[in-house]
Amino acid sequence: MKARLTADEYIQGIRNGDRVILAKAITVAESYLPADYGLMEQILDAILPQTGKSLRIGITGVPGVGKSTFIETFGNFLINHFRYKIAILTVDPSSQITHGSILGDKTRMEELSRNPNAFIRPSASGEALGGITHRTRESILLCEAAGFDVILVETVGIGQSETAVKNTVDAFLLLMLAGAGDELQGIKKGIIEMADLIAITKADGDNTKKARAAQLEYQHALHFLRADESGWRAKVLTCSAVSKTGIDTIWENLQQYLQVQHDTGHHTLKRQRQEVQWFHECLDSMVKRKLTEYSSLSELLADCEKQVREKSMSAPKAARIVLNEFFQQLKTN
Ligand code: GDP
Repeated sequence: MKARLTADEYIQGIRNGDRVILAKAITVAESYLPADYGLMEQILDAILPQTGKSLRIGITGVPGVGKSTFIETFGNFLINHFRYKIAILTVDPSSQITHGSILGDKTRMEELSRNPNAFIRPSASGEALGGITHRTRESILLCEAAGFDVILVETVGIGQSETAVKNTVDAFLLLMLAGAGDELQGIKKGIIEMADLIAITKADGDNTKKARAAQLEYQHALHFLRADESGWRAKVLTCSAVSKTGIDTIWENLQQYLQVQHDTGHHTLKRQRQEVQWFHECLDSMVKRKLTEYSSLSELLADCEKQVREKSMSAPKAARIVLNEFFQQLKTN
């Protein structure tokens, strides 16, 4: 198949659930080429009516907590029990920082990767943190239009991308280890507060008791946190992806959470807010892109950067100067 397809070929392919075309479309969403922005816009506009019907779940936890093993078991559970089609999108900002990928450099989710009802897409390495929400949102919509029922968005859990992901999903599941201590796990309080559900992983063998103790400890600690807008309080569960226990309970609790969201109108509200936020993010990045397209501004931009770096000008003033010049040029062009 040729590398570049027409917008219609992408749209039809996605609607037909063609995985190869879906993968190519996600590549377009990840692209920095100006021509691809327009192409993605066309694709998204066309598929919008086919989107929104999936369940979007964010899954996070530090490296080693058992994310890929959990997703392998959880994904297979959903496919086998409900005949769902599952898409797994991984978001890994560490690839940009370490030039290697925490999520991508090992054989992950072996069984799922061979299952025709699962689609696994690691994020492109070198991805900028600011681009995460864009790409993730767009990838979610593309997967939905291709007929996926559940979208799992996996993040590394080291505190950078979780807020971004939280703003793109319906439910947020935090995986934690027993007995490792929050600090050791690099888990910030903010991430715990974001979770709608917490699961203590590896609750099997000798670790079962420790996992139960951690469950009680966290459940107790969460009592001191406020319930979310819908009145939901995060629950703490235990599971083992290896012995496949607790997986069904996690699913049941996710269902309960979603029921509360639906019943209180918060599901719709949250999605509407996320859409509007997406719009604002697009606006921000488009304005920024336009700014850099004006080559006549590049000198001023560089000069302002220098002055901010050397503390001879404050950042807000520098931004205003650039913006004023930008509008001036728009007027004269
Ligand atoms: P990730 O880095 O968060 O994706 O973690 P992995 O899924 O790669 O798991 C890290 C290690 O923990 C691997 O050696 C797994 O075999 C092990 N592991 C994952 N889940 C379980 C579990 O439920 N029970 C036990 N005993 N080990 C597990």
